[in-house]
Amino acid sequence: MSPEQQAKRPAVLVCRRVFPEVVERLREHFEVETNDEDADWSPAQLAARLRGKQGAYTMPTNRIDAALLDACPELRAVCNMAVGFNNIDVAACTARGVLVTNTPDVLTETTADFAFALVLAAARRLTEGEHYLRGGRWTSWSFDTLLGLDVHGATLGILGMGRIGQAIARRGALGFGMRVLYHNRSRLDAATESALGASRVSKEQLLRESDHLVLVVPYSAETHHAIGAAELALMKPSATLTNVARGGVVDDAALAAALRERRIAAAALDVFEGEPAVHPGLLALDNVVLTPHIASASLRTRLAMANLAADNLIAALGRGPQAGRPPTPLNPELLRG
Ligand code: NAP
Repeated sequence: MSPEQQAKRPAVLVCRRVFPEVVERLREHFEVETNDEDADWSPAQLAARLRGKQGAYTMPTNRIDAALLDACPELRAVCNMAVGFNNIDVAACTARGVLVTNTPDVLTETTADFAFALVLAAARRLTEGEHYLRGGRWTSWSFDTLLGLDVHGATLGILGMGRIGQAIARRGALGFGMRVLYHNRSRLDAATESALGASRVSKEQLLRESDHLVLVVPYSAETHHAIGAAELALMKPSATLTNVARGGVVDDAALAAALRERRIAAAALDVFEGEPAVHPGLLALDNVVLTPHIASASLRTRLAMANLAADNLIAALGRGPQAGRPPTPLNPELLRG
């Protein structure tokens, strides 16, 4: 490559550590700066690093808002390595002509596997059992040691019946013979409903009738504290709640109180308000399974997500075989015309 061509290469910032082979792919097209500390920069540090760059390769912990965009007027593309994009103000990006992309589909089945693992773990008291054993409290077999709840044949409730919600529903209906209820703002088409044996119900009915309720809605102003004290009060005392959506969809303080008072039986949480901090009331309880935001974290899936984010950035900045046609844009209106 000639020095002139080299000089024209766009500059991009990889905002957190990612697979080295993916950074190498980006280096084939761009001048790449990486965050080798692998800690989140402050907004001011992020703005300073991003200034003068055309592309940002972001993780869910990187906040891209109007103030940052105004500080970085040369930015043309923000490519998030996640399907959720509540860390990015997409409207502010669109208003400034900044393309935003996410990584849907490639993580759907892996996330659904993990959500189902959490449902089973909460219902059958899996981590509680392990702590009991490791703590030396298992001294003999007893008919009523750690009695749990059945998953097979129970009613599975899904709040947010999109790609991942449907994959969870499929596992429940086909693998565990569950009755599936869901709530979305819009109804699925009849063929999808019938393939999943799923019925759309009001949010209130979903709360009242679910034995195992799974949250997989995007986080937004509308879904902030979608599950709080009032919603928990509608659930069965024998119900479990699983959150693989985002912190903030659940009011964690209200959930800790409901679990402590056994107003619901158990919960399993992969995401938390203010993570990586976890509400101390949750940490103190046995009837909640806690995991560190790893629902999509299989090696193959995280690599696929990282490569899809790179494909998006390369194409969004006019490079590679898909130049100008990033595979998964969130504001595709910027690509038209
Ligand atoms: P999706 O296909 O867009 O599905 C989201 C579903 O939520 C849609 O069916 C949508 O239907 C529904 N929805 C949106 N707003 C709603 C509201 N206010 N009330 C009720 N339903 C609402 O997204 P996905 O790929 O399944 O991913 C869902 C979310 O899972 C992501 O946004 C992400 O935050 C989270 N996630 C977490 C992890 C993890 O590591 N824990 C991994 C992957 C994904 P309507 O538009 O009809 O309402």
